[in-house]
Amino acid sequence: MAWLAICVASTAAVAAPLEEFEPVTVPMQVVRVAAHSYYVQGQAGVVSSANEGFNSNAGFVVTTDGVVVFDALGTPALGHRLAELIAQTTSQPVRRVIASHYHADHIYGLQAFERRGVEVWAHERVRDYLATDAPAARLKERRESLFPWVNEKTHIVVPDCYLGEDTVFKMGGLTFHVMHAGPAHTAEDLMMMVEEDGVLFVGDLMFTGRIPFVADADVSSWIQAIDRVLKFKPRIVVGGHGPDSTNAVADLAMTRDYLVYLREQMSAAFEDGLDFDSAYQRIDWSRFAALPAFDAANRRNAYQTYLNVEREALSAAKAPKPR
Ligand SMILES: [Zn+2]
Repeated sequence: MAWLAICVASTAAVAAPLEEFEPVTVPMQVVRVAAHSYYVQGQAGVVSSANEGFNSNAGFVVTTDGVVVFDALGTPALGHRLAELIAQTTSQPVRRVIASHYHADHIYGLQAFERRGVEVWAHERVRDYLATDAPAARLKERRESLFPWVNEKTHIVVPDCYLGEDTVFKMGGLTFHVMHAGPAHTAEDLMMMVEEDGVLFVGDLMFTGRIPFVADADVSSWIQAIDRVLKFKPRIVVGGHGPDSTNAVADLAMTRDYLVYLREQMSAAFEDGLDFDSAYQRIDWSRFAALPAFDAANRRNAYQTYLNVEREALSAAKAPKPR
């Protein structure tokens, strides 16, 4: 493992006025999962005004030399609330925020941490994502769907450090392993193991108790990434959505089973020459239909998987035949 992060100097402190952060009324509680590791758990289901955008989790680890935060929630207001709760838990300052991936529901809260001395780390593939039109389109959508918590003052925070390789760092006597787990849920997925606590933060590799969001995913690599997570034998896994898990095998199994089912069913349908609509209708979804977020996510997930399968079939057809 090596230090290959490319860091840019933090720009001058952005002393944002407090009115930048709309009041939050949705309840948020700190859960302690190990001696130094904590998280807040977003509400089940998808982002909505009812949950004020609080549908994802964020973790933090308190050391004797500062706090490491893992993900920052889906609005600046929620990030600000998280920062307040951290300040109530410890007098240590936040030194570093690591973004598991750059989906809006995990990073708009970075704005609340964007202060001198707080470094934002993300995987280098985030740079590719930020170069597309997608972040601005998503922000426009969220300014409507999550107003007033996402508003004209909301901006996308660019990472200070881009990680190119798996990285280990020490802070305040604790050992942090930051590892690239993508391409899985996204190209840029990072996970973070806190060695002394046996706690693994996995971002959206694990969705506990709900249908995962697959739209930007590479499903077969995601299945492999889950198998890699299981090899770490963490005592506790904190995912990007849903409660923490003390039984990673069972909880990751649900995400894994769903992904395997998507993959198998869509491959079979593609081989049978079915178009997506006919394939979707043919498949028996009853195993998963009662889970939260099924109605919102399943059809898109299935479509994304169908496209994955189709793309793989096309590139296999184009590959030179072995002699
Ligand atoms: Zn995500």
